[in-house]
Amino acid sequence: MALDNFLLCDRDLPAELLERYMQADAIAVDTETMGLKPGRDRLCLVQLCDPDGYVSAMRVELGQTEAPNLKALMEAKHSTKIFHFARFDIAALKNQLGIQTAPFFCTKIASKLARTYTGSHGLKSVVRELAGVELDKTAQSSDWGNVMALSEEQLAYAANDVRYLIEVREKLITMLQREGRWELAQGCMDCLPTIVDLDLRQFGNVFEH
Ligand code: MN
Repeated sequence: MALDNFLLCDRDLPAELLERYMQADAIAVDTETMGLKPGRDRLCLVQLCDPDGYVSAMRVELGQTEAPNLKALMEAKHSTKIFHFARFDIAALKNQLGIQTAPFFCTKIASKLARTYTGSHGLKSVVRELAGVELDKTAQSSDWGNVMALSEEQLAYAANDVRYLIEVREKLITMLQREGRWELAQGCMDCLPTIVDLDLRQFGNVFEH
């Protein structure tokens, strides 16, 4: 791997990586999967980044149902796991690896509540505005299933999806507080675990008329 500050691992986080990430109070997280339905489409890769910018990507094996070190990190109470569209990743982690992610922060919910001057809340738009970085999303819709043969382009893409989330969260929190919407954002995140459970049990629309 020619990527700097990047570790590729298999099945779980090595003990020394868990130890490193456990020292942080915030960890950025993203997943790559075979598609957008957690019950149908398996988890392939879990990417993490700490506040120092140390990125790792954990390959999930076909049929794998647990990852104890990853679970310990994702459930650690002192560490906020930051996602962009947490609803999807938390469902995938729960469905496949039995992980109950908490506490967490969703930069997409925060963006929708803070950046009311735009309708663009995809990761690319949010990172462009708040981190000043242009993400290359060309590998987004690619085959993540052959995890042992992921290309350097795919891994670079996967790494970039977590690299800017911690910075973006800080800026969004400042905006939410300024606009008096911080508590509303917290409330949305508090009810997300229930929405994830509804999604996983095929109850997507209980709030609709
Ligand atoms: Mn991604």
